[in-house]
Amino acid sequence: MTVKTETLMRTAVVDTLKKESIGKSVKVCGWVRTRRDSKGGFSFIELNDGSTFDSVQVLAENTLPNYESEVLKLSIGSSVEVHGTVVESPGKGQTTEVKAGSLKVLGYADPATYPLQKKGTSFEFLRTIAHLRPRTNTFGAVARVRNEICRSIHNFFQSRGFLYVHAPIITGSDCEGAGQMFRVTTLDLDNLPRTEDGKVDFEQDFFGKSTNLTVSGQLEGEIFATALSNIYTFGPTFRAENSNTSRHLSEFWMIEPEMSFCDLEGNMQCAEDFLKTIFSDVLNNCPRDMAFFNERIDKTVIETLQGIVSSSFERVSYTEAVDILLKSGETFEFPVSWGIDLQSEHERYLTEKKFKKPVIVYDYPKDIKAFYMRLNDDNKTVRAMDVLVPKVGEIIGGSQREERLDVLERRMLDSHLDPAEYWWYLDLRRFGTVPHAGFGLGLERTVQFCTGMGNIRDVIPFPRAPKTAEF
Ligand code: ATP
Ligand code: MN
Repeated sequence: MTVKTETLMRTAVVDTLKKESIGKSVKVCGWVRTRRDSKGGFSFIELNDGSTFDSVQVLAENTLPNYESEVLKLSIGSSVEVHGTVVESPGKGQTTEVKAGSLKVLGYADPATYPLQKKGTSFEFLRTIAHLRPRTNTFGAVARVRNEICRSIHNFFQSRGFLYVHAPIITGSDCEGAGQMFRVTTLDLDNLPRTEDGKVDFEQDFFGKSTNLTVSGQLEGEIFATALSNIYTFGPTFRAENSNTSRHLSEFWMIEPEMSFCDLEGNMQCAEDFLKTIFSDVLNNCPRDMAFFNERIDKTVIETLQGIVSSSFERVSYTEAVDILLKSGETFEFPVSWGIDLQSEHERYLTEKKFKKPVIVYDYPKDIKAFYMRLNDDNKTVRAMDVLVPKVGEIIGGSQREERLDVLERRMLDSHLDPAEYWWYLDLRRFGTVPHAGFGLGLERTVQFCTGMGNIRDVIPFPRAPKTAEF
């Protein structure tokens, strides 16, 4: 069959780079990365369309009718549509190239004003042009790896029979950490309705009560797990904490599996299998992007991921971890004693220096953990777990949940929470309660860990952080 060139489907650059494509007629479209002109009367154009890390080399000869008038005006960032043939490339560095039969300019990018001229532009600068940074090597690679991680996450749970449940983004329960929530309101801030005692009258607000953006889908996840057994949520979460670190965002994505008939052991095993699956999928399915990260961002990233996939995580109780820290001989900024919340420096010592691999710390003191974590028989610790990884620190936080109604009520009162407000949560224990457990994985920390990117703001398309909400 002969196909008229005009009606050809677009071929992705990734496909034009394959040996099997040699001899095929193609239409390739993309953005110019470089143009090199040869004295022999032709030009090489590196064309990238994001379908893979590499660009395809387009050979444009001066026999093209618009060679002088248009091809020689192409600069970085310009967009073009090329109709041509995939041929074996005589040059070094690539197997194939596209010999242009015609080249249409879709849009020029004026080199005098296009911001992405030089290589090695700083990540700080690129954050100020979030609308253009996906066109760079690094951000293209991050986007593809992030996509692979998301695919891997869904595959992992779907292949194990977990149901994907959507937790609400606007929540009426100010569960954990009310102080760090973003309020959702349609009240007129310049003219707030007040109750008789002078407080803001949220009965007049949109939902007739005070509402916020969710900090976690866990409680809703528990509702579905105590009916459908194994579920996971995967959605955006919001935290108004004022932490300007390289590991915190105000808006980030969290994956929260919740499993009925499961204890902390099962939870830890699930978390370990889950992370290993993600890392091995990234290594297997993003080799080109990972080679780039290994070369340009962190020379140890591939080796680290490979090492983790083929060995088991270390497991230490909180009490053991405190002992290790006390005996470490290190001087920490925050002194260590039983009962403290582990700081990032402590977590990093355990995973980077002591064990040099992921560590699961479990059985934390009840006073530093949430009320819903299952109380141990020692009455001092709860069945909590954190998974710590080198450089990033905490990547997963989870627990076995308290399924005993009386214990849960007591723990709520101890935490100054009103059980009446959590009547629906307590109902899950009142009617057919079951042991259950779950955890939360931060998507961006996972992308950070897989790519070696130093700042979490560079692994989400549009970062939200204190004083930062561009675009
Ligand atoms: P951290 O102590 O590091 O601030 P956390 O204990 O408050 O985290 P959890 O409430 O346990 O976090 O949330 C579960 C997971 O979500 C964490 O293990 C982490 O991977 C991720 N996460 C938590 N807060 C943030 C944030 N502000 N930005 C990005 N990811 C986060
Ligand atoms: Mn945590």
